[in-house]
Amino acid sequence: MQSLHLTGLSPAELSEFILSLGEPAYRAKQVFAGIHARRLDSFDAMSDLPREFRSRLNDQATISNLRLESRYLSTDGTRRYLFKTRDNLPVETVFIPEEQRDTICFSSQSGCPLQCTFCLTAQLGLLRNLSAGEIVEQIINALNDAYGVGVQTPRGTNLVGMGAGEPFLNFEALIKAVRIMKEPAGLHIVPNRITVSTAGVVPRIRELATINDRPHLAISLAAPSDNLRNELMPINKKWPIEELMSACKHFEKSLKRGERFTFEYVMLRDVNDTDDHARQLAGLMNRHALRAKVNLIPHNPAEPLPYRPSTRERVDAFRAILEAKGIPAFVRRPRGRDILAACGQLAARSDPGIEASISIGKRPSQLHHA
Ligand code: SAH
Repeated sequence: MQSLHLTGLSPAELSEFILSLGEPAYRAKQVFAGIHARRLDSFDAMSDLPREFRSRLNDQATISNLRLESRYLSTDGTRRYLFKTRDNLPVETVFIPEEQRDTICFSSQSGCPLQCTFCLTAQLGLLRNLSAGEIVEQIINALNDAYGVGVQTPRGTNLVGMGAGEPFLNFEALIKAVRIMKEPAGLHIVPNRITVSTAGVVPRIRELATINDRPHLAISLAAPSDNLRNELMPINKKWPIEELMSACKHFEKSLKRGERFTFEYVMLRDVNDTDDHARQLAGLMNRHALRAKVNLIPHNPAEPLPYRPSTRERVDAFRAILEAKGIPAFVRRPRGRDILAACGQLAARSDPGIEASISIGKRPSQLHHA
């Protein structure tokens, strides 16, 4: 019998399960706190539960569906985790330490069904959707690795749904995970600290607008015209740019004061990075008068992707054109490129060259940089 993964249950669902075992309701609160607030990694570690109850939990349930297979540490402090699900599929998560906050980039699917030509994850194809519990567990495991099991985190945590997979093709599990993580009695990471990114699944952009207490939205654009976008992101044939913009216009009504949404634009040398592309992009944004900013992401190369990143000068010139036309634009600094942890590089690679430089089980201060 497959054991029930408690990490993916809402507080109400967890209560129902605990009551079904004939235990009082307050035990559900203890278990929820043990998993999400104390970030314990086993029932046995929940020493506030009677031994007999813990052994029944062990028989029927689990809090861990992900097994750490390997871990990579970048020279810039970024960590990439490669987990395996119980059915042995890869799940990757990236931990990015920053001055003020940490950012964890989680995956929503194992592999990805979209065929974006510049992204390494596309080469895996879709393996399967992750469950809400497998999404939440990525965050718990990353925090535990960075700070120690159950240790209070020194900085706040931002989340980005920009790992492997298309979050809006696994919408239900995504939203469920977001709700579990915002619980004050648990991880307490509020949706306002979360950004989810989509390649442009139009109906779900419209649906996200209807959810109160929703995460922020980012949209991967990569091209200012249908011709080029069809080539780079085949999903554009299903939902072309005008439909995408109209969904964005609809979504815009749900923005809070001061909130903007984001377009991500991967910069591919000589493909989508000319002055002309910048002017087209600014024209597109201005025509729809969107309350959005543009993040320019220089392409992260990875064999065998047939692209090179735009030069620094090209990216700056592109950004300057957008700014001159009134579009706020920012250049994203790549993180974790050396360990294939940067945007578009997640493909479950376990390169023995980088693996040699890690030491599982040691605290951060003991880790050697790659
Ligand atoms: N499927 C979702 C979530 C993935 S987010 C989406 O497409 O939005 C991953 C981000 O990295 C996207 O903005 C994508 O455009 C960008 N990206 C993909 N491959 C990249 C690469 N090789 N270099 C830089 N950015 C890349």
